[in-house]
Amino acid sequence: MTNQKKVDVAIVGAGIVGLAHAYIAARSGLKVAVFERNPAAMGASIRNFGMIWPIGQPAGTLHRMALRSREIWIEILQQANLPFLATGSLHVTYREDEAAVGREFSEKAPSLGYECAWLESRETLAKSSAIRPEGLLGALWSPTELTVDPRRIVSGLPKFLSERYGVQFFFNTAVKAVETGRLDAAGQRWDAESIIVASGDDLQTLFPEYFSQSGISRCKLQMMRTVAQPEGWALGPSLAFGLTFNHYPTFKICESLRALKERIERETPEFEQWGIHVMVSQTSAGELTIGDSHEYGLAVDIFDKPAVNKLILDYLLQYVTVPSLEVAEQWHGVYAKHPQHTYINFTPAPGVRVVTVTTGVGMTMSFGIAEQTLREAGVAA
Ligand SMILES: Cc1cc2nc3c(=O)[nH]c(=O)nc-3n(C[C@H](O)[C@H](O)[C@H](O)COP(=O)(O)OP(=O)(O)OC[C@H]3O[C@@H](n4cnc5c(N)ncnc54)[C@H](O)[C@@H]3O)c2cc1C
Repeated sequence: MTNQKKVDVAIVGAGIVGLAHAYIAARSGLKVAVFERNPAAMGASIRNFGMIWPIGQPAGTLHRMALRSREIWIEILQQANLPFLATGSLHVTYREDEAAVGREFSEKAPSLGYECAWLESRETLAKSSAIRPEGLLGALWSPTELTVDPRRIVSGLPKFLSERYGVQFFFNTAVKAVETGRLDAAGQRWDAESIIVASGDDLQTLFPEYFSQSGISRCKLQMMRTVAQPEGWALGPSLAFGLTFNHYPTFKICESLRALKERIERETPEFEQWGIHVMVSQTSAGELTIGDSHEYGLAVDIFDKPAVNKLILDYLLQYVTVPSLEVAEQWHGVYAKHPQHTYINFTPAPGVRVVTVTTGVGMTMSFGIAEQTLREAGVAA
């Protein structure tokens, strides 16, 4: 008798990391099943900015992986007919210490594989009508950043993967145990040659011993979304500002970063306190997504702080003018955080891989990580 509950690859979690592994495996002709404990993925993958942000990755392996991930993103988005905006990004500067970092990076970066350039004020203003001209010093332009709508991704990719590749999705189905060759999903046994656990910031349910000694903590971010902007108005590139140079490891290669960092700590300790750096992007439905703050620790504060959102909006308003900043939705999201590693990939038992992104870059990196993980495991081409 054939065992119906048998697949080549079983995946725990229908967030972006699980979906990326499902795509790479299914594309290689493998039979794939995805198990998600909730009615839909409700974790970091729907709560995020939707930014595919290669410029946030440090030069070398991680940046190359981000660019590869971006290629696969475009491939699947086009096949699935899901919208995305290939607008690129601007880090817009209004202070000399910010401009110094932007200029220095634009000089060093091309030889390190970044496609970016320093733009003077006039060229910056030509890229986005949202940017305020008063005091503008210029911007670091990068064409590689994309924006997707996370709401469309977590609903659209499962539909596409099941229709195009026959990937089976089991929602409302918590996986209770995983071992070599099998898992227990809501009381049903499934056999699988390979198992990928992509359970996001929850490692303690399936691997409590590993989790307790892993050094993994959590990061909470507050986010906002405006009403849709009037038809015909476009933000253009996603915008970041001086604070963001201090956030992503990419810019550590700039000697000028130290002065900027010291000034931020001195002048605006509240940004340091709440881990605030301000970015804005536009969804394909016309809304603006605005964030974010970073609060670290295993015990995620349940309660959101309007004062933090106000700091973010006040900062943004100094530098942009948009048709409407009316906030329609606010929320927080949580991702797993490790002090050293961008992602963690470990093998608790033969044939079982646990993949957790441990900084706020899972949208950017997911497809690159999935391709590498499944190749290393000898599962997919
Ligand atoms: C506010 C915010 C903004 C961000 N912005 C960006 C951005 O712009 N660009 C970027 O690159 N990254 C961004 N990130 C990071 C990115 O969202 C995460 O790295 C990524 O979504 C993690 O994906 P995941 O699939 O691992 O986790 P999740 O999306 O949390 O998915 C894990 C899934 O596993 C399920 N699960 C867990 N345990 C089980 C079980 N035992 N059985 C069945 N199912 C289970 C959960 O229900 C969940 O749906 C942001 C994160 C946040 C919070």
